[in-house]
Amino acid sequence: MLLTSRAKIKEQPCSKNNLSRKTSIIVTLTVQAFVQRRLKAIRHRHIFRQLTPLDHGTPPWITRDQRSLLNLSSNNYLGLADHPRLKEAAIEAIRIYGCGTGSSRLIVGTTVLHEQLEQRLAAFKGSEQALLFGSGYHANMGVIASLAGPRDVILGDELNHASIIDGCHLSGADYKTYPHLDTNVLAQQLETLEQEKHQGLRLVVTDSVFSMDGDVAPLEEIAALCEQYDALLIVDEAHATGCLGPGGRGLIAEHGLVTANIVTINTLSKAFGSIGAFVSASTLLKEYLVNVARHFIFTTALPPADIAAGLAALDILEENPELPQRLQNKATTFRTGLQELGFQTLASETHIIPLLVKDSTIALQMASELREHGVYAVAIRPPTVPMGAARVRFSIMASHTEEDLAFALDVIKNVGKKMGIIK
Ligand code: PMP
Repeated sequence: MLLTSRAKIKEQPCSKNNLSRKTSIIVTLTVQAFVQRRLKAIRHRHIFRQLTPLDHGTPPWITRDQRSLLNLSSNNYLGLADHPRLKEAAIEAIRIYGCGTGSSRLIVGTTVLHEQLEQRLAAFKGSEQALLFGSGYHANMGVIASLAGPRDVILGDELNHASIIDGCHLSGADYKTYPHLDTNVLAQQLETLEQEKHQGLRLVVTDSVFSMDGDVAPLEEIAALCEQYDALLIVDEAHATGCLGPGGRGLIAEHGLVTANIVTINTLSKAFGSIGAFVSASTLLKEYLVNVARHFIFTTALPPADIAAGLAALDILEENPELPQRLQNKATTFRTGLQELGFQTLASETHIIPLLVKDSTIALQMASELREHGVYAVAIRPPTVPMGAARVRFSIMASHTEEDLAFALDVIKNVGKKMGIIK
């Protein structure tokens, strides 16, 4: 269709200006038709998504259409995004350094704040160094594509985050998945590489906390396999750092697995209440990434305000090492409450708690009913989760009060009964 339209335009005698105007009209129309067809297919599969503007409200409550809703969908797990100390730190950084950094880190985008935060994060995580990236998405893409190439093999959990999957594809390596959490299959895959005398890099990559299921990877077993088969391990601790492990240092630290052969990706956009990400790395790996990671090199450095907010969040976390456990206690209360009501919460054992309903339409209806009654939780549907595994997902925050969670459980119970999901 695109070709036909273009061919037609060529046949028409017209001036130079006229031609460019017509070409753009026809290309636009063709793109519109193409997009419309694609969107129709997306709607047909009940996976059409839309943006929802929200007003801030009084955290953890948000406002939509002037109605107050309890926010059970945020990754702001410790409630720090609204903490006065983060706000003050960000404002002060803007006063001193301005709003933008004006260039990439390697040009003139590295302020003393960037360096300070990297040093503090390395000390927090017990790694030699830390390297900041603009986002967790950038960090996964940049690190994976810098380490693996076309002669290499990457083995990844089938439920890894999209940014990991995209990084694996970008690297050009042979990317294979293993069934969710299945270390037997991972062991077989590594054994096959050994038998085949595979010469390239072997890389294993996994989330530590899975963002849609709230379950955790068997990191000890995975790390042992990596050691046995001489594979490098990348662990995405996006949902663990600040939330789990000693003082919020994540699950790698919880298992005492900090070694030079494990690279961890952490975000500042979740428990840290800011934006950005960091890689915990050896000095050598940091040097390497600074030189080759395109997602680090070719993008503008994070703004000072966000770096200052990250520093303030780290201060708060280090001063209050009990915060992550407080979050987990609330999550346990909420998850147990759902299970006692008869809901399926899959294998969640963290602050991310799915309520499985299987069907996308039911997930959408449930989320909508919950909103009607003051609870904001989103329906998660394919392609984000596998077909037949649609769910409403709840994220618990340390700032949720007992009353907030009791209110939510009551609403979910009533909606679940009304919809026939529970008796
Ligand atoms: N990794 C995981 C496991 C995630 O869930 C996410 C985002 N939710 C990311 C990476 C990307 O992080 P960011 O939002 O900072 O880009």
